[in-house]
Amino acid sequence: MITFSTASLYPYGLNRIFEISNKVGFDGIEVMLRSKNDISYLDTWDAAYLKQLEIANKIKIVSLHVPFEFEEDQSSFDRIIKLAKQIKTRYVIIHTPREDQVQYNEWVKKTIIQNRALAEKYGILIENVHIKTGKANPVFKNIDDFKTSPAVCFDIAHALRSKQDPKLFIKSLDNIRQWHLSNWDGKDDHLSILEEKEKFSSLLNIGPAECICLELCPKAFLDIQNQEEIIDVLQRTLAFIRKKNIQQNIS
Ligand SMILES: [Zn+2]
Repeated sequence: MITFSTASLYPYGLNRIFEISNKVGFDGIEVMLRSKNDISYLDTWDAAYLKQLEIANKIKIVSLHVPFEFEEDQSSFDRIIKLAKQIKTRYVIIHTPREDQVQYNEWVKKTIIQNRALAEKYGILIENVHIKTGKANPVFKNIDDFKTSPAVCFDIAHALRSKQDPKLFIKSLDNIRQWHLSNWDGKDDHLSILEEKEKFSSLLNIGPAECICLELCPKAFLDIQNQEEIIDVLQRTLAFIRKKNIQQNIS
């Protein structure tokens, strides 16, 4: 299954992102839940509106990504689970804490790591974030750290940015359920994968998880205002991933 993250086109409203996703032909969508002061905050938390978007655009919301403010305050967790139940999503994506986020780290340990039944029931996946030099490291950063997580969303660009070998992680971990797929060019992450097809061919050939979520950012497109170009880039990307996936399944 190949899905598309709404974060990729965040300057657009959800309605247009759903429309574009349908036109491109993605199998589903990952909704980035927005923080209280963000644009689209109320739309992303509104189950009835999200269902309307699904029906109008004939595309299913497969996963929810918790809002950025979640690392500071996890009081919205029950609401997120309720939304996941209402929308019937497969995954809920949460970022690994950093070592200086003591309270968040404790919460993740108690609520996710020590409560595998809950994590399993709602497909709660812990995502790797990049290692920043001079800043606190992520708590989950090495292969062994991720082995202790019930399940993982493996972000390829974050691994590349951390100078980690994504292939090694993918081959060593059997709990990766979803990839976040995008490129890191040495400067920015969440860029298009089409410029480095060879690198991504060999990654896709290893055999990805049950879901690949394309998670780009507006910089992945030459002109974010040009919807024709957006659709063209996304269609070519989807065709490339599909082709590789099929080859991998045959071999
Ligand atoms: Zn990601």
